[in-house]
Amino acid sequence: MIVEKTKHKIKCDASGCNNIADYTIVNKKFVFDGNVYLCKDCITALYGEISRYITPKSLKPLYKKGGKDE
Ligand SMILES: [Zn+2]
Repeated sequence: MIVEKTKHKIKCDASGCNNIADYTIVNKKFVFDGNVYLCKDCITALYGEISRYITPKSLKPLYKKGGKDE
């Protein structure tokens, strides 16, 4: 699953939101199929909700390399 900025003029997928989407969640193998379009407000709200449960781990590498960084 990846999140990309979108240039398409597509309405935000969040119910009750009439903004134009800024981002798309591209998803090939999750519970829903196809792309989800969200505006900046909605993706920020979504991220806020997610961060209540899941702490970002971007400070650590996801996998170990064979040696130290060059
Ligand atoms: Zn929205």
